[in-house]
Amino acid sequence: MKIEEYRKKGLSFSFSKEEGFRDGIYYLQFPKTEEGSRRKGAELTEIMGKLKAKEGNISLLEIDKNFRRSFIEGILLSDYKFQRYKGEREKEAAIYVKGIDGVGEESKIRDLVFFVRDLVNDAPEKINPKSFSEIAGKIQGVEVFVGDKKWLKENGFNGTLAVGKGSSIPPRVVIYRYSPEGARRKIALVGKGVTFDSGGLDLKSPEYMKDMHMDMAGAAVVLGIAKALKDFPVKDEIIGIMPLAENLPSSSSYKPYDVLQMDNGKTVEINNTDAEGRLLLADGLIYAEKQGADIVIDLATLTGAAIVALGELVAALYSTDEEEGKKMEKASEKTGEKVWRMPLVEDYRDELKSQRADIKNSGYKRSGGSIMAALFLSEFIERPKWLHLDIAGPAMIEKPFYYMSSEGTGFGTRLLLEYLRGEK
Ligand SMILES: [Zn+2]
Repeated sequence: MKIEEYRKKGLSFSFSKEEGFRDGIYYLQFPKTEEGSRRKGAELTEIMGKLKAKEGNISLLEIDKNFRRSFIEGILLSDYKFQRYKGEREKEAAIYVKGIDGVGEESKIRDLVFFVRDLVNDAPEKINPKSFSEIAGKIQGVEVFVGDKKWLKENGFNGTLAVGKGSSIPPRVVIYRYSPEGARRKIALVGKGVTFDSGGLDLKSPEYMKDMHMDMAGAAVVLGIAKALKDFPVKDEIIGIMPLAENLPSSSSYKPYDVLQMDNGKTVEINNTDAEGRLLLADGLIYAEKQGADIVIDLATLTGAAIVALGELVAALYSTDEEEGKKMEKASEKTGEKVWRMPLVEDYRDELKSQRADIKNSGYKRSGGSIMAALFLSEFIERPKWLHLDIAGPAMIEKPFYYMSSEGTGFGTRLLLEYLRGEK
């Protein structure tokens, strides 16, 4: 029988030592690790895609029970396409694999990651500070608050206000709170929400502007966590902070050589209006500390330098606390969302100095851009343990990689959730 005929009946998959088609069954190699089994799941989807098969069968009894969950996760996460703007006839149907139905947690994880991917992939006209806030307002299980321009002024979000000045859609901040009984620690999550980054008056070239609807991927992940907490409760109190702005050039835009007075008293010389993300994050970090957070974690598509250093599959991780840094690395190993520990090199801090203000937001030496951005942020957080994830690389990738879809990947969602859930 030819493959085409099996396709009609639905492809059958099983596991074996050797990979390939035999007697009407496609054998996948036994995975040896959790991430390996997630990738095997993605391979199954890929094989079905190549053969244009929409239905498959598999018995999970064949696979080590420790790997079943991640295998299903791999199948589900890899079956994603952003098709919101495709005509009905162009849309591709999802695949159906018999034998993995009835799964609970895995499909919730899929829904969560797809929610984040959809947010990141949608058009900048659709996802702006206003509409993002409206989406946030509908999330259940957490208490959501939206701060408007007036609130931002009263609460010293001066970086966010400056960056958002050039847009007709005013900046906002979304804040949510999750307070389980008996919580011992307060963890703040801060996500960069630049819903479109043109660079501002320091305008980007078309080549660098084209993907800039995804510059809110950090905020999308933090919002994804809000959605997750209903199904995946955690022990700690969580406060999510997402400063939102569009960075656009206009007669009202903030300008190079403006000096911003930040809420912790420090002044910032604007050297480049395209180094805007760190200004939003600085507001978020200051606010998180004022709320009494014990741990603050920020996620941001922050620097091209992080991509140069680690490529598009790995996020740069900075941590001021050894133990929490290790916990994040452990969560990374478990979820397959890769991070690499980076140093906060104190010897470079002098580079931040400005002649006109306390520090400047850009214009350091050309090297070490990701570290310089992290050092800048560290000026706005003092007491809490602090973890900073520069996700500029893995938030959006060019070609699909196993279960990571091309374009928005939802990177950081599973990582952060795993970190927050901790030892189970
Ligand atoms: Zn920028």
